[in-house]
Amino acid sequence: MVSQSTRIAVIGGGMGGLTAAIALNRVAGVQVTVFEQASKLGEVGAGVTVAPNAQRVLDNLGVLEQIRTAGAVPDGHGVYQDALGNLVTDAAWEDSSKQYRNIGMYRPDLINALASAVDPTSIRLGHRLSGVESVESGVRVSFENGVTEEFDAVVGADGIHSVVRQAIGQFPEPVYSEYIVYRGVVDASLLPADWPMISQVWMGNNRHFMCYPLQQRKLFNFVAGVPSDRPLHGPWSGPAEVSELAAEFAGDSWDPKLHRFIESIENTFWWGLFDHEPLTNWSHGPITLLGDAAHTMLPHQGQGVNQAIEDSMALATFVKAAETVADLPEAFRRYTAVRMQRTAILQHGSRRSGAMFDAQYEFADLKKRNADLRVGRDFRRSAVFDYDARKVAEKALNRFERNETK
Ligand SMILES: Cc1cc2nc3c(=O)[nH]c(=O)nc-3n(C[C@H](O)[C@H](O)[C@H](O)COP(=O)(O)OP(=O)(O)OC[C@H]3O[C@@H](n4cnc5c(N)ncnc54)[C@H](O)[C@@H]3O)c2cc1C
Repeated sequence: MVSQSTRIAVIGGGMGGLTAAIALNRVAGVQVTVFEQASKLGEVGAGVTVAPNAQRVLDNLGVLEQIRTAGAVPDGHGVYQDALGNLVTDAAWEDSSKQYRNIGMYRPDLINALASAVDPTSIRLGHRLSGVESVESGVRVSFENGVTEEFDAVVGADGIHSVVRQAIGQFPEPVYSEYIVYRGVVDASLLPADWPMISQVWMGNNRHFMCYPLQQRKLFNFVAGVPSDRPLHGPWSGPAEVSELAAEFAGDSWDPKLHRFIESIENTFWWGLFDHEPLTNWSHGPITLLGDAAHTMLPHQGQGVNQAIEDSMALATFVKAAETVADLPEAFRRYTAVRMQRTAILQHGSRRSGAMFDAQYEFADLKKRNADLRVGRDFRRSAVFDYDARKVAEKALNRFERNETK
């Protein structure tokens, strides 16, 4: 096991970076310092689904109970519906063992829960990374505030615009999906008392609307995807009028229940949906990537954060097996080999799910789209939710070690 005096810098204090810090510390036993550009940890006022595959990791790390308590577990499976609210299919919402069910989390609550499991003295706020370079003794990181420090290794969890990624020689072009989402939360007390405590999606007219409960059911998250060329002409996100969103789903071709939900919305903001093609490499020597920095994906499978959480466990498993600091580049290479294919499949799968929700491209035939959604539900349970990131990494580790001794 690598020495406890090993020092790893994690760049980015988002959900990916904080989980990586917990995993590297609790599983691999190394010293971690998290550098975050913002002056305080935080997240946008919207929801995120913590899926069973990530819950398995969080459970292993000893932080799941607090997250579950702060979040909302829905009453039953979610539903995909047509624009008028007719059922198309139920959605996957738990793993095959029924041990873990999707949890709806208010993002600031998830950040708080993760941050509370990290030693506060190891989080350095107000540090915006400007450069990363390999030096004889490890990696030197430089920040815009003039601070420079050296570590044994660096993990870039610095999101879609990652600076660390450049040090690995990867410069992916962001790909705009030609869709924006309106996002936000509504106070559950503004909804009818019998509003179902489940995840619902309405799909029609090249757009979709999703909602699900958060924060012990006191809030509901909503995400409304509509076609738009707006991000091509300026910023990628910003405040929006509720009336704009309402106009996108107006008229009697949409379910009156959806109109009732939209009437409860007091504030919203818009967000352009971007991803990039899978990278060809995530690691260079003692520098590696994790989360959106490595694999930004569209949100239509709700797997961006969940994959960052899986990455964290896989990374910590390989780091734990390193015997000395000199073995970290090989640990990162192995981590990359194990994670790249899984996340590439989900990057493409997320595009495909978006196309299905919005009935684009070859899904113009709705019967076929609906059949594909049903197949997708079963695939999601077995291939996505049942995945055990730690077991997969441990198995791969044994394989790598067997090959080495041959
Ligand atoms: C509408 C929508 C809905 C979504 N729903 C889901 C969902 O239900 N489930 C799911 O799993 N995913 C979902 N996602 C995806 C998810 O939000 C992202 O995958 C996730 O936030 C990525 O986490 P991260 O920590 O890798 O990156 P980020 O959240 O981008 O965090 C990066 C951090 O690094 C910091 N940083 C950046 N640059 C620097 C620098 N130079 N120096 C220092 N710090 C820096 C940033 O300030 C930030 O704190 C959704 C996304 C969208 C747009």
